Amino acid sequence: MSSVSPIQIPSRLPLLLTNEGVLLPGSTIRTSVDSARNLQLVRSRLLKGTTLQSTILGVIPNTPDPASDAQDLPPLHRIGTAALAIQVVGSNWPKPHYTLLITGLCRFQIIQVLKEKPYPVAEVEQLDRLEEFPNTCTTREELGELSEQFYKYAVQLVEMLDMSVPAVAKLRRLLDSLPRETLPDILTSIIRTSNKEKLQILDAVSLEERFKMTIPLLVRQIEGLKLLQKTRKHKQDDDKRIIAIRPSRRITHIPGSLEDEDEDEDHDDIIMLEKKIRTSSMPEQAHKICVKEIKRKLNPDLLHSRLKKMPQSMPEYALTRNYLELMVELPWNKSTTDRLDIRAARILLDNDHYAMEKLKKRVLEYLAVRQLKNNLKGPILCFVGPPGVGKTSVGRSVAKTLGREFHRIALGGVCDQSDIRGHRRTYVGSMPGRIINGLKTVGVNNPVFLLDEVDKLGKSLQGDPAAALLEVLDPEQNHNFTDHYLNVAFDLSQVLFIATANTTATIPPALLDRMEIIQVPGYTQEEKIEIAHRHLIPKQLEQHGLTPQQIQIPQVTTLAIITRYTREAGVRSLDRKLGAICRAVAVKVAEGQHKEAKLDHSDMTEGEGCREHILEDVKPESINDTADLALPPEMPILIDFHALKDILGPPMYEMEVSQRLSQPGVAIGLVWTPLGGEIMFVEASRMDGEGQLTLTGQLGDVMKESAHLAISWLRSNAKKYQLTNAFGSFDLLDNTDIHLHFPAGAVTKDGPSAGVTIVTCLASLFSGRLVRSDVAMTGEITLRGLVLPVGGIKDKVLAAHRAGLKRIIIPQRNEKDLEEIPGNVRQELSFVTASCLDEVLNAAFDGGFTVKTIPGLLNSKL
Ligand code: ADP
Repeated sequence: MSSVSPIQIPSRLPLLLTNEGVLLPGSTIRTSVDSARNLQLVRSRLLKGTTLQSTILGVIPNTPDPASDAQDLPPLHRIGTAALAIQVVGSNWPKPHYTLLITGLCRFQIIQVLKEKPYPVAEVEQLDRLEEFPNTCTTREELGELSEQFYKYAVQLVEMLDMSVPAVAKLRRLLDSLPRETLPDILTSIIRTSNKEKLQILDAVSLEERFKMTIPLLVRQIEGLKLLQKTRKHKQDDDKRIIAIRPSRRITHIPGSLEDEDEDEDHDDIIMLEKKIRTSSMPEQAHKICVKEIKRKLNPDLLHSRLKKMPQSMPEYALTRNYLELMVELPWNKSTTDRLDIRAARILLDNDHYAMEKLKKRVLEYLAVRQLKNNLKGPILCFVGPPGVGKTSVGRSVAKTLGREFHRIALGGVCDQSDIRGHRRTYVGSMPGRIINGLKTVGVNNPVFLLDEVDKLGKSLQGDPAAALLEVLDPEQNHNFTDHYLNVAFDLSQVLFIATANTTATIPPALLDRMEIIQVPGYTQEEKIEIAHRHLIPKQLEQHGLTPQQIQIPQVTTLAIITRYTREAGVRSLDRKLGAICRAVAVKVAEGQHKEAKLDHSDMTEGEGCREHILEDVKPESINDTADLALPPEMPILIDFHALKDILGPPMYEMEVSQRLSQPGVAIGLVWTPLGGEIMFVEASRMDGEGQLTLTGQLGDVMKESAHLAISWLRSNAKKYQLTNAFGSFDLLDNTDIHLHFPAGAVTKDGPSAGVTIVTCLASLFSGRLVRSDVAMTGEITLRGLVLPVGGIKDKVLAAHRAGLKRIIIPQRNEKDLEEIPGNVRQELSFVTASCLDEVLNAAFDGGFTVKTIPGLLNSKL
């Protein structure tokens, strides 16, 4: 127990002046240092020193205002604690400061202050013997009694605690193994004592006095603990009894172990958390789980074990705490009140969105049924259409009409079912799924959730997210939705789900089954112009801080943007282009007006003045010297074609149709893609060979079969249409190879609807006649030459219209689909409905493609 020679502390000690907390020998505290004197001490003594001695400081408690940088040293407490600095952590935020971890060694008394600056140094006298018992018989006897008494109380106190906690067990062992003279200091640090009491213990230099003073503190603690246990018994919460013996904010430790100053704070948090759980409106089952968790994981015993630095318990602690916080935050019973007024909803939808009549009608029906029936059971609406046609935006409007919160959950690329259903709480970093997270974000249990891009859900080894979505969307099941992280059912039946997708082809059938598909087709040019002028331009002007008095975009310009700078079914690129124009104009407005102010106006007509704004190169650096004079423009900046070219660059899409159709063997087909309708050139060429058919352009199996069908039909009808190969033979593949190419080779294409186009293209190749340059077609073919209906007619027709084509050949059975096409588009196009290939060919070639008697040829055959 006793060492051979007592340890001596240096006789000159630098003094660390502290105000809050009292460090007693044998305990460890963390203290923050930010006064000039203390900072100096840390910098020049602790950080620069290289010897063990330089890590020993004299800690003087109870210094009035140690942070004061006044010249004079404040009056110092006479007795201090020599301490060993174990760790120094520095930070510059919010102001420069260090955090020191120091362990008390022994008491000392200041004999004389040797210097005051830059930090005080004093000559000191050591008061405690380090490590040794007083060995005179009398003291030992006298103290023997006192220390025995003290020891008994200490054991009683420790045994009142939960001995299964390792820290408590260790403390119990330490009571036996440590020199008894050190026990008063250590126990004073652990039990609940005020700073004043600690200071008294520090000042009690004689051991006898120290024991005498600490015993009442121990007794008080024991009594308090007894009382606490008695009252807590009723509350079945007795596992928190250790709170009673926690000291104030500064936590002191048994020698050799580090401390954690956050403990008390955690404690308060947990009590708050517990209170919140009690008062929260969560269902009973969830409540039970929370109570269980808080007992099992966050009970103070475990906290106590944290003090002993059980690193393995830390992540679990944080995990449980996050879990409980989420449970408390979730809107179990909180909801917004629906204000459903169909008339107002109609007005709002109309105000926010131009066109899309079918979609708006269906949404209103859906809302009306809800109003009458007052429940949400029914199919989930799924808006399917190309990007930028306003699917998300309608979803947002629905939330607005209902007065509900709106939350968008992007599902594109999600391939792990935990994304939907959460991760099990078995590892650090586990979290709830997007549904529960969304609910936490909106804070109510009846939001509108927009499940964006359900067609882009992936699949992986981590499970199928679509399967998890099934449960979410099924009205029969979703009142009991169990997130893996939450592990308790949450009622999703009040949530209004709306899904969006670009195509139904990739939506898993089971999911598709639960949804009502509403097609949102692309817009016509006229619709786009209206949308641009009613919605997009005003929005962009506002975003860029411009007013209609500063910029004018005439309709012809909008049309030019639509036709020459964008090729899309929706209006997203259009919106971006309008944004680019607004940005450029904003620069002009900022710089141009100043120029005008400086320039002599006399040599400019008004119109030229406008042009001047646009045609000048945008030179941001020139703003610098002009910014101070940004005056409002007198004339709006007019965006004409020149301005457009200047801002957006040369047109990206030119009318290339007629150019490409200038030789035989080219025809225009119409295809449907998830991004809307497109026109597609089909090219064919023939060469000497052995009757091979080569197909390029990344075609799917169905498309390859269409090509074979087309060739077979043409071969079998070659005579009828007088089609010959290069050698004049009706056997078209005789010594001839055919190559069919579908441009945009990087894009995979499939589907039967190119059949008629392939036939027309090959008929052109073998007849040497040009296909009409203004005709596009779509339709599936059969081996016997019939034309079968196909899908996506509206999008295809709009694409043909966009491309400036005039005649469109569609299968006869698709005639009914023409009703969906806006009147103005229909007026500008002529439609040919075909039931057999003969009609297709007749419509595709100028002057028809009927059987012609070419005397020369016929003669040679006769
Ligand atoms: P999607 O979800 O279909 O990809 P968004 O809803 O994101 O498309 O729409 C893109 C932008 O186009 C939004 O700013 C939206 O307001 C606007 N928009 C699309 N369609 C219309 C419309 N019919 N009327 C007004 N604005 C529209």
